[in-house]
Amino acid sequence: MPSGRTHDQITLGMLPGITIITLVLSRSASLTLSLSSAFLFSGLMFGPDLDIYSVQYKRWGWLRGIWLPYQKLLHHRSWLSHGPIIGTLLRLFYLGLWLGMGAALTGVLLTQVGDISIESQSLLQQVEQYRQRYLPEGLAILLGLELGAMSHSFSDGLSSLCKSTFKRLKF
Ligand SMILES: [Zn+2]
Repeated sequence: MPSGRTHDQITLGMLPGITIITLVLSRSASLTLSLSSAFLFSGLMFGPDLDIYSVQYKRWGWLRGIWLPYQKLLHHRSWLSHGPIIGTLLRLFYLGLWLGMGAALTGVLLTQVGDISIESQSLLQQVEQYRQRYLPEGLAILLGLELGAMSHSFSDGLSSLCKSTFKRLKF
C-alpha cells in the first residue's frame, strides 16, 4: 500500500480539482470551503489509517491516544475502517463519543466547580438552530470527509492490485 507521504501527495494533488469542481457545481463559497477543508482534514488526519500507528494518527498530537481503542478494535484495512461510507460514519461516531464525553465533563466542571449554571433546554435549542441553519454545509462536510477517505482506500486498493499483478507477471 502507498506510504503516508504518498497518501498526503494524493490528497494535496486532488485538493485543487475538488475545490474547483465544488465551486463550479455549487457556486457557493461556504459549501466549497466546507467540502474542501473536510476533504483535506480527512486525507491528512481523519482517514482510514487511523486504525494503525500512521502519519494520520501521529498528527493528532497529544490527543492521539483517543484512537488507541479504535486501533485495538479494528484490524488494519478492515471494511469498518477502509470501507466506503461505513468507515467515515464509524470514525465520526467514535469521535462523537469522545467529544460527548469531553462536553459532559466540561459541563460537570462548570456547574460543580465553577458554579456556572447551564440551561440544557436553551443549549439544545441553540444546537437545533445551528443544525437547521448550516445543514447544507454539514452535508458538504460529510461528503468531503467521505471523498478524502475514499481517495485513500482507492489508492490502497490500486496499489495492492498493481503489486499482485507485478508478482504474477514475474512468475
Ligand atoms: Zn490504508
